[in-house]
Amino acid sequence: MSTQELLCIGPECGARFPIGEVIYTCPRCQSLLEVSAPAPLDVEAARRAWRERRLSDAPEDRSGVWRFRELLPFDDMRHIVTLAEGNTALLEAPRAARYAGLDALLFKHQGFNPTGSFKDNGMTVGASQALRLGMKTVACVSTGNTSASMAAYASAAGLLPVIFLPHGNISYGKLAQALEYGALTIQVEANFDEILRLVRELAPKLGIYLLNSVNPFRIEGQKTIMAELLEQLGWRVPDWVVLPGGNLGNISAFGKAFRELRSLGFIPRLPRFAVIQAEGSAPFHDYFRRRGEFHPVAKPETLATAIRIGDPVSWPKAIQVIDETNGVVETATEQEIADAKAVIGQCGIGCEPASAATLAGIRKLAAAGVIGAGELVVAVLTGHVLKDPDYIYRYHTGQLETPSGARIEPRFANQPVTARPDAGEIAALLERYHRH
Ligand SMILES: *Cc1c(COP(=O)(O)O)cnc(C)c1O
Repeated sequence: MSTQELLCIGPECGARFPIGEVIYTCPRCQSLLEVSAPAPLDVEAARRAWRERRLSDAPEDRSGVWRFRELLPFDDMRHIVTLAEGNTALLEAPRAARYAGLDALLFKHQGFNPTGSFKDNGMTVGASQALRLGMKTVACVSTGNTSASMAAYASAAGLLPVIFLPHGNISYGKLAQALEYGALTIQVEANFDEILRLVRELAPKLGIYLLNSVNPFRIEGQKTIMAELLEQLGWRVPDWVVLPGGNLGNISAFGKAFRELRSLGFIPRLPRFAVIQAEGSAPFHDYFRRRGEFHPVAKPETLATAIRIGDPVSWPKAIQVIDETNGVVETATEQEIADAKAVIGQCGIGCEPASAATLAGIRKLAAAGVIGAGELVVAVLTGHVLKDPDYIYRYHTGQLETPSGARIEPRFANQPVTARPDAGEIAALLERYHRH
């Protein structure tokens, strides 16, 4: 077992627990837990090892999460489960940069993961913790990328994945992955919170390990996305890291990564963070503006289903990251997200709707002078373009509507056209398209 511990982040608690304790929040005060900081490292030796492992054939070295294992609470690699996650591309996108009003823009594309989202970076560590604890079953309440990822990693590890779904609230693309990867999928006639309460009661009785968003081991895995980004930038700290915010686990992980890498001596400073939420599902934006008490959104609405979250569990960690990095929280409308997504598509890159909130938000922040045109900006694309093909088809054919039924204007529409099997007609069509 690792010498690291689980720490309660509650300001008046500060309790510590062994890394092998099966707890998800503090048993004393119910606050979130986090894994304590990694042991001191030789910076140059670690940088060299992290790079050289990519040339190795060992699965734990080829993984873009486990090759950074000095940052993770695992001393040996015997219990880990990996599907060669991470090692994702950092892509230049001049067209998107122009759209946002910036000189340059980089996309760190987490959609290039085995199940198509950054959830894999966290799940490889969460599922490995389940193995280390000797659990046989893992569970989550989710219809989205978490369930797709958990199903894959649990099955790969020989664990039984169990997914609980709120009744009648199904996202087919992602559910399809969960079924294909072998998850036992249980629909319960209750809402998310009621099901979560039920599962938390059952888990200790049935020996089920929970891999919901609060799980601190998932956060550990997601930290490596930032280590890898810094490596790709030659350890130059970007001015801005921009990401969509739902449950706010990812911003918490990214902030923790930078905090630890700075105190270990890898980097001299922190970037600024911008979290972008969909306008109809923006409790964190509201809190950022008004402070005081945190007010959940009772009926969150957005077509960007991965960030349709009204009561994000990790907000206390997330606000800490925003405050210590002089960060900002912005919103984007359904129209802005849809257009930004089409522009990312036109770059030949593509992403799912939640990911496109980044470009929409950057464009607003650049127009407001918050982000400077010449700054080094990295947007994290969280999910793959094929996660939500229905949205894409509707957008390009002018059939996409907001949750309240307003039509979304397809400003970057690319409609399929029909033609008769006639060479002259098709040649004329191409001619017109070229001049266009
Ligand atoms: C989970 C997810 C998000 C939201 O991340 P949080 O950590 O919950 O804030 C955004 N985009 C995609 C594609 C996701 O799967």
